[in-house]
Amino acid sequence: MSAPHVVVVGGGLAGLRAAVSCLDAGTRVTLLEARPRLGGATWSNRHQGLLIDNGQHVFLRCCSAYREFLRRLDVEDRVFLQDRLAVPVAAPGGPTAWLRRSALPAPLHLAGSLLRFSHLSLAERLRVARTTHSLGRLRLSDPSLDEQSFGSWLRARGEGTRSLEVFWDLLVRPTLNVSAEEASLGLAAKVFQTGLLERADAGDIGWSRVPLQELHAEPAQALLERGGAEVVLRAPVSRILPGADGRHVVVTGERRIDADAVILAAPHEVAAELIPEAAGVDVAGLRSLGHAPIVDLHMVFDRKVMAEEFVAGIGTPLQWIFDRSAASGLESGQYLAVSLSAADAYVGVSSAELQRIFLPELQGLFPAAREARLVRFFATCERTATFLQVPGTLRHRPGTRTELPGFYLAGAWTDTGWPATMEGAVLSGEAAAQHALTGLARGRRPAAAAA
Ligand SMILES: Cc1cc2nc3c(=O)[nH]c(=O)nc-3n(C[C@H](O)[C@H](O)[C@H](O)COP(=O)(O)OP(=O)(O)OC[C@H]3O[C@@H](n4cnc5c(N)ncnc54)[C@H](O)[C@@H]3O)c2cc1C
Repeated sequence: MSAPHVVVVGGGLAGLRAAVSCLDAGTRVTLLEARPRLGGATWSNRHQGLLIDNGQHVFLRCCSAYREFLRRLDVEDRVFLQDRLAVPVAAPGGPTAWLRRSALPAPLHLAGSLLRFSHLSLAERLRVARTTHSLGRLRLSDPSLDEQSFGSWLRARGEGTRSLEVFWDLLVRPTLNVSAEEASLGLAAKVFQTGLLERADAGDIGWSRVPLQELHAEPAQALLERGGAEVVLRAPVSRILPGADGRHVVVTGERRIDADAVILAAPHEVAAELIPEAAGVDVAGLRSLGHAPIVDLHMVFDRKVMAEEFVAGIGTPLQWIFDRSAASGLESGQYLAVSLSAADAYVGVSSAELQRIFLPELQGLFPAAREARLVRFFATCERTATFLQVPGTLRHRPGTRTELPGFYLAGAWTDTGWPATMEGAVLSGEAAAQHALTGLARGRRPAAAAA
């Protein structure tokens, strides 16, 4: 009997993880991706001679599923991971304060750094320390946390506007792609507990030393094809037709593909159109997850203007700034990528206007930029970077299994317990693969060869 056939729809991190796990388990795999490239929301593009990413991506040491996937792709040496969390926080004209962990065990590892955080008054620092302690004691399994905004919870603990802007927003905006004021308390608590408080080393920050396509898409495609999987690009799936015995037909263009199991790993708004009714998924709820944009500013200077690998800004609309010179192949000068999360205000704004707003801000943060020549400036915008991580999303994030046997969901938008991140995407892909493999092992017959 030939091996069962799993069809994976969508070649982002969720679909790639699912496809690799199914292949590793010995199934026949077809991966269908609508675009001419894999990688989904993590992709690179050649622009004016530079290999740039669609947006700066970082991960934390606690992202164990994502890091395991990098190991499986044999690309762990293409990322950098801090030995010990250290974040320089700069303000225009002010000193740089560092958020870093000490050698003390959690949760004391951040205490010294918090108490020295000079962008807040001593009273504000003490309150932040107390609030962080309370945040660490919330029960993540309590669904009511997702019905409340982080902002209202913080204010009920006496946190003022300044602490929200200078401290809480600094960490929440880039991780949840929404302001601390508006974020879901449940998701914010997840970020702080898993990412900072449970283990001293959890929050060490990692990032890719190569363009994202060399980290995810290319090695994953090579691994899949080497293992005999069929990877089809430019293959948007238009329908999934449920069949008898939990076997389904996946339609892309003129092609109809028989599958013993289907893993749908497309973005949530696409999934809402493709999920068969028999799966019993609340697709209206899926659509209501909405979207939040991320805008990246790409600035190339004729010389080095920022000394650190990355800097977080406060008191400026610049949020997190990364040195991408080496990764992009820049031969001289410095290429900075400025990541603007929850960037609704900048969607549709021209590059010229963004330069007018942000160049003086950057010069305010890094005096060396005043003397330097700006060689290139352009912006990229991902309007649908993540779902909108405000209160009330938990009940609309479906699980992996559905009521339709042999049909599974994956994607950072599924109920992973994580925010919309690379870790969440990889976890969901792994979960979908495991459920599909368990279903297949229960004795469902393999389908006829793919059409
Ligand atoms: C600019 C930016 C910055 C980010 N920064 C970070 C960060 O620092 N850290 C972090 O952890 N996360 C970050 N994220 C979020 C992270 O990239 C995503 O959560 C994750 O990559 C989503 O993976 P996914 O597989 O769930 O979905 P996607 O990556 O969206 O993949 C879905 C795939 O399905 C394909 N598809 C769509 N329709 C069809 C169809 N009909 N048929 C077949 N295929 C289809 C799409 O083309 C896509 O390739 C960022 C995202 C963006 C956009």
